[in-house]
Amino acid sequence: MNYVIPTNLEQEILRLKREQNAVILSHFYQDPELQDIADFVGDSLDLSRNAASTKADVIVFCGVKFMAEVAKILSPSKKVLIPDFKAGCSLEDSCQPKDFAEFKKKYPHAVVVTYINCSAEIKALSDVIVTSTNAKKIIEQIPADKEIIFAPDKHLGRYLEKVTGRKMILWNGSCIVHEQFSEKELVKLITNHPQAKVIAHPECPEALLNYANHVGSTSSLLKYTAENQGGEFIVLTELNIIHQMKQKNPTGRFYDCPFIDKAGCSLCNSCPYMKLNTLEKLYLVMKYGDKSFTGGELQLDEELRVKAEKPLRRMLEMS
Ligand code: SF4
Repeated sequence: MNYVIPTNLEQEILRLKREQNAVILSHFYQDPELQDIADFVGDSLDLSRNAASTKADVIVFCGVKFMAEVAKILSPSKKVLIPDFKAGCSLEDSCQPKDFAEFKKKYPHAVVVTYINCSAEIKALSDVIVTSTNAKKIIEQIPADKEIIFAPDKHLGRYLEKVTGRKMILWNGSCIVHEQFSEKELVKLITNHPQAKVIAHPECPEALLNYANHVGSTSSLLKYTAENQGGEFIVLTELNIIHQMKQKNPTGRFYDCPFIDKAGCSLCNSCPYMKLNTLEKLYLVMKYGDKSFTGGELQLDEELRVKAEKPLRRMLEMS
């Protein structure tokens, strides 16, 4: 098939959206042009709430695959389209269902609290799902005498142990973006910009969180920068959130912290999975659906969907 990308790409996407009664949802970590064309931009919690309540017939999800799965789990009658099926997540990859089921068997009485960054199969093995926005609140509602398994992010788990005072059994997963920020580069930035506040996502390792003036979910970081108009900020999370921060605080100054790879090369701190989505792929999936060369309609086995829905609904009730 010959795919033609129109020159008026944005207008064509908006036309297809009206024609299909579609809603475009975008995560804060998407490239700015995808955030700008979306009907709603948010973090995982906001996006799942939005997916659960939308009146649209089609949800086009600009984010990674597990986020689109959440939309399908909560809105099974809707068609959920994703621009690129390869947009995965290192946290999801680090927690495979077979291994996790074995791990769970060792702690038969534990409550399984799982971060939303995981596959539908892992959700189906969980008691309650959390996001970085509501995790503390949900963990505090679990009776004190209960053991808790927390998966898959060990750094977020450790941070939650600290803020809730609850010891948990942690799965050993991590996010490749947040884990690799360079402490050396961070110290350089702090030295060069002594007025700047360090703001960090709790997926970062503890050694980096120790430098932070504010630790929180993407929504919380955004709120913090909006409340400190004209301030300076060193941002320890995915680069693209700065696009929203600048919109809410146009006179603010934002410094992103690079990370250093094993060869000592300085890299930009963007998520390689989120980066797979582009405006062109968004257009192609809306125009050609399953025949688009990278994306298509997300399908989910109904039995699995029902099992994964329970802990997600529990999250929405408890948050
Ligand atoms: S930033 Fe990290 S946690 Fe988020 S999608 Fe990318 S790899 Fe997964």
